[in-house]
Amino acid sequence: MSQVAVFETVKAMREAVAAWHAAGEKVALVPTMGALHEGHIALVTEAQKHARRVIVSIFVNPTQFAPHEDFKKYPRTFDSDRAQLEAANADAIYFPAVEEMYPPGFASRVLLLGPAAVGLEDRFRPTHFEGVATVCCKLFTQSKADFAIFGEKDYQQLKVVTRMARDLDLGIEIVPLATFRETDGLAMSSRNRYLSADERALAPTLHKVMQALAARIRNDDPLFQAVADAQNEIITAGFELDYLEARHADTLAPVTSRADGPIRLLIAARIGGTRLIDNIGV
Ligand code: AMP
Repeated sequence: MSQVAVFETVKAMREAVAAWHAAGEKVALVPTMGALHEGHIALVTEAQKHARRVIVSIFVNPTQFAPHEDFKKYPRTFDSDRAQLEAANADAIYFPAVEEMYPPGFASRVLLLGPAAVGLEDRFRPTHFEGVATVCCKLFTQSKADFAIFGEKDYQQLKVVTRMARDLDLGIEIVPLATFRETDGLAMSSRNRYLSADERALAPTLHKVMQALAARIRNDDPLFQAVADAQNEIITAGFELDYLEARHADTLAPVTSRADGPIRLLIAARIGGTRLIDNIGV
């Protein structure tokens, strides 16, 4: 286990990265909002395969939360996060204050089309990706990292950030990593800690229904009916369903059959006050 450096300013991070680059070392960034779990640590392990140096940013980004969302109550567990990152041999944590990221007068946003405007998360969180993309753009240019690792858990986000990095020539390679799950199939998430015992017991239903739906689609069952049945199953199980859809795995455009290309199933559903998202490939 090594001591992990903590940078609170752009300047401190840039000096360290400049020294690493001068020594010929590649740098990978793992952007997070903290409250780290094994899924985040898997991103660090993946980052270490691509680069000698790994920075994990911990920033609960206010601009990606709508006023009614959980920005204030989002779990903040820095001491535990730092201990986990030390155990994982990360090199540094970038832990900026909100004022470091958004100084007084800050007035810019990244404007997104393509995978950010397909009627999935963007339909229910209309300002979310603008906030995500703006902070990721800043994190990439602040750090000058060579790679950034993103989880497939947030599949639309992965597509949005990958598109932006290419479109804006940000000089960083986006590396995807498969979703890490609990043994019962629930996708790990910092928000799982909001779940009551009963809600936690119900939560793996999402993955089970998605797996059964993927199997039906592979079996060439008519797509529309299979999706409708799965939606009903989720609602009957007690969730409030925002969406459960079959989309093209690359463009996220709607699909009507397997002939339309590789399919990704994406879901967002709420139990109690907690909103869960997940997705799988067919
Ligand atoms: P968050 O801190 O939840 O905003 O997520 C930070 C990064 O971790 C994002 O790239 C997420 O997609 C990724 N991530 C979150 N949960 C998981 C998981 N269960 N498996 C893999 N990656 C994840």
